[in-house]
Amino acid sequence: MTGNPEKNGKLVVISGPSGVGKSTICRQVVEKRDAFLSVSVTTRNPGAAEVNGRDYRFISRDEFEARAGRGEFLEYADVFGNYYGTPRPPVDEAISAGRIVILEIDVQGGLQVKQRCPQAELIFILPPQREDLQKRMDGRGRGEDEQSRKRRLQAAEKEIAAARQHYDHFVVNDDLASAVQDVIDIIDGKRKKYD
Ligand code: 5GP
Repeated sequence: MTGNPEKNGKLVVISGPSGVGKSTICRQVVEKRDAFLSVSVTTRNPGAAEVNGRDYRFISRDEFEARAGRGEFLEYADVFGNYYGTPRPPVDEAISAGRIVILEIDVQGGLQVKQRCPQAELIFILPPQREDLQKRMDGRGRGEDEQSRKRRLQAAEKEIAAARQHYDHFVVNDDLASAVQDVIDIIDGKRKKYD
């Protein structure tokens, strides 16, 4: 990343199991802090309510691989059999302009970001309890079958274990408003590691 370090913004990674409420938390943090929310590129199919360019940029595997080969992504990973990546130029621009940049990405991606930008803050959102995660996944209305829900639940447990080793902060989403405040406190430097 280039630019004047004094003026540089902050890179914040937010990860967590699917269904834990990360998107809602990210949206509220973005509003409250006028942060820049990175729009990821993915090869997965759009969901019914998703808008290309707002939720994700949906592209083909060929295009993704070509762009990855040209080094256009800050990080990328294969999640549940699809590629997801963070385009680098908008992130660099926002950081140089002194903005807070939020990346809502998985743990594999978070670890890549930490390697490239050690000053990045990695935040992991935890569900209040396991049963709750199961319930939230059931309520997502994606029309997923039992097997795919199970796969997501297992992946969630693996992700939590990996995050425990490498992430800087953990926020339990038992109450939305306080989870949002916790993330803001971390961004503002009011919460130390592992508080
Ligand atoms: P979903 O398909 O449910 O929208 O996302 C599946 C997973 O991919 C989530 O954990 C989400 O945070 C993660 N993800 C979304 N965009 C990116 C990205 O650009 N890079 C990485 N590594 N993971 C991403």
